[in-house]
Amino acid sequence: MAAEKNTAAEEEKREMPDGLQEQTGYCKFCGQSGMVRTMAGWNEERINEQVTLQCQCEEARAYAKAAERKEKAKKRIHELFGDGAEKPVKGKVVEILLLTVDAIEDKAMKGITVDVGHGVKAKVSKMAKESIKVERSENKKTTYEE
Ligand SMILES: [Zn+2]
Repeated sequence: MAAEKNTAAEEEKREMPDGLQEQTGYCKFCGQSGMVRTMAGWNEERINEQVTLQCQCEEARAYAKAAERKEKAKKRIHELFGDGAEKPVKGKVVEILLLTVDAIEDKAMKGITVDVGHGVKAKVSKMAKESIKVERSENKKTTYEE
């Protein structure tokens, strides 16, 4: 495509489905520019994030993989503990588990086990090969303490 300078008005004239806009951003690691289609109103940071996820440089690819791991783990947390779960736990607990995923990816911790009560335990931990495991365990047996 030929280099062209678009004014804001020209930008609006372009045909894009459902409020999508074509935006240019830069990879956070190698600085290469890229085009992404975004919803209107995305800020620069978000556009750059999206361009970074699409960039093919080594660091960006590792970053994209980490982002994918986080997304998967968070989805699993929603399925096992969130509103989609058979027996959802309180939102505050779900929040802690979601934050744990970020902390694990930031290498700030290896994992967490939360005693939710009523025999329910939530565990989020880092596995070999960088993957993140999410577990829900329910202790069905009744224990009496004397
Ligand atoms: Zn890059």
